[in-house]
Amino acid sequence: MRIGAHVDPTDPLAEAAARQAEAVQFFLADPQGWKAPKPREDAERLRSADVDLYVHAPYVINVATLNNRIRIPSRKLLLAHATAAADVGARGLIVHGGHVNAGHDVAVGFDNWRKTFAYAADSGGFPLPVLIENTAGGDNACARHLDSLARLWDALGDHEVGFCLDTCHAYAGGEELLGLVDRVKAITGRIDLIHANNSKGAFNSGQDRHDNLTGGTIDPELLVAVIRAAGAPVIVETPGGVEGQTADIAFLRGQLGAAA
Ligand SMILES: [Zn+2]
Repeated sequence: MRIGAHVDPTDPLAEAAARQAEAVQFFLADPQGWKAPKPREDAERLRSADVDLYVHAPYVINVATLNNRIRIPSRKLLLAHATAAADVGARGLIVHGGHVNAGHDVAVGFDNWRKTFAYAADSGGFPLPVLIENTAGGDNACARHLDSLARLWDALGDHEVGFCLDTCHAYAGGEELLGLVDRVKAITGRIDLIHANNSKGAFNSGQDRHDNLTGGTIDPELLVAVIRAAGAPVIVETPGGVEGQTADIAFLRGQLGAAA
């Protein structure tokens, strides 16, 4: 099981080395901005690295929304990030499930997801797996609760779609962690990546506040059980920089018996 961390994008391989990580996740552009990613000078070095790379799409992307001025640029930006992520040899592009605004029909949001994949298919398809991530909050989210996730997967039909399970988001979003992997896989058929995070917020609080693995409101043993059951690569998105994340990675290796 490959274990790593979300890191600063300046030199992801140095960040991986500092944490003894086998995988890293990073942004290719400002996560709160709409700018398309620039080509990276270290693309060749990243492509040939023996560290597994994952790219997280900007948070501003919301392909589900009924608001044209957000949805259309979101679609384009997602495809631009997919192209740039493939260029550095990333194994997947992680994007949040998104939501519709209050009073809007979430069914339209699911269909907007389908249109996003159809739009990409018209341009030759996404050049790497796109992993939709479950989110913690909101009443109109596409991937907070599993019943929504099931409707999303129904809407996406035959499109090739991956799934990233965030343990903090699931718990804070109100999904019991016990048996969660089986319930998710019954819907998606796959878990491509785990975002291993404890939660500062309480169960079903809707709060997206990550904590270190042995801190927070989730029993660390339960967290480990979910990660073990998923059997997927793991990225910690936890606080504390190199020190905090190195400790979280070491904790997981110890618990999972994974080779360093
Ligand atoms: Zn996450």
